[in-house]
Amino acid sequence: MVKKIYFTVGPSQVYPTVKRHILKALEEDIPSINHRGPKFAKILEETTSNLRKLLGIPDASHIFFLSCALEGMERVIQNMVYKSSFHIITGAFSKKFYQTALDYQRKAVSISLTSSAYKKKAKSITPNIMSEGSQNDIISNLKIPKEVELIALTQNETSTGISIPMDDIYKLKEKYPEKLIAIDVVSSVPYVDIDFKKIDAVFFSVQKGLGLPAGLGVLVVNEKAIRKGEDIKDKGVSVGSYHCFKSLLEKAKVFQTPATPNVLNIYLLGKVLGDMRKVGLGKIKKDIDAKAKLIYEYFDNHKELKPAVQDSAWRSQTTIIVNTQGKTKKILEKLTKKGIVISKGYGDKKDDQIRIANFPAHKIVDVKKLLKSF
Ligand SMILES: *Cc1c(COP(=O)(O)O)cnc(C)c1O
Repeated sequence: MVKKIYFTVGPSQVYPTVKRHILKALEEDIPSINHRGPKFAKILEETTSNLRKLLGIPDASHIFFLSCALEGMERVIQNMVYKSSFHIITGAFSKKFYQTALDYQRKAVSISLTSSAYKKKAKSITPNIMSEGSQNDIISNLKIPKEVELIALTQNETSTGISIPMDDIYKLKEKYPEKLIAIDVVSSVPYVDIDFKKIDAVFFSVQKGLGLPAGLGVLVVNEKAIRKGEDIKDKGVSVGSYHCFKSLLEKAKVFQTPATPNVLNIYLLGKVLGDMRKVGLGKIKKDIDAKAKLIYEYFDNHKELKPAVQDSAWRSQTTIIVNTQGKTKKILEKLTKKGIVISKGYGDKKDDQIRIANFPAHKIVDVKKLLKSF
């Protein structure tokens, strides 16, 4: 059987070393070890340490292991919002974050950067129609209501291919230093550069940019977020049962987790992060930039298939969305014959867009092969 190449946005192509690590893990009986024993603590310690070293997470930040990124949204809302949160919506995943706040009966306020109402108000807000570099300061000029405790956003929107520059996020935080800020980086990690001193909560899962099997989420929070969780709990509001910031922190301190975690995936994550450190994050990012350039240039020059996000400042380097005018099915069929799998558009864009992942696991030769196959 010919091996397929997965340019899907998640789950995606696994990192090349995953197979070797899975075989080794089975040899070492990793799936059978006790999650309260010293061997697991050592694995968790290694994974935590590699996360800190690769992503530049300071010792003052706490790293929690969850089951997925949606759980990250839920824990953030429960532990960091007593009454009100503010959501910057750029697509389906940021909408989900907003919906999570509503589900937990928080007063959630949202602003959709892709809605027609906002388009009119700020003229050129939608990246799709932004062509004159007019995105400047859209994020940092947002007016956020006084009662809002948490600003929530999806740094890289996997559904629309809109990526919010980190500098804009820092500027917003500087304008509202007393508010907490939480970002979803599921499909931009490890590419996105994050100053963890400026962001109160960051979360992701591992089946996208990190090239691992699904079923593991990571949440990084600072002391301010922990205190907020305590505050809310003290007020008598539920912050979650087995997984709240308090229980996660207590266990993290002894390199454990409250429930039996995805031990195998925590092991694999530690190993893959170690491999990425050996390659160097600088090289990984440079390669992603080079591949993104190839992909965008190809579609910018294509007669029919055009990138969905026009303004380069808002273009995701890791999840590239292309308009197909109803040709998605045909394209996917054609690529499948060559052993290449990509994602269709998200939701109601399923027939009119395609989505191409550009993660560390994707080799430049395979990107060239992909572009030759259209
Ligand atoms: C995939 C994705 C999620 C959901 O991740 P799960 O691991 O399935 O919970 C959330 N946010 C973004 C931006 C995503 O791409």
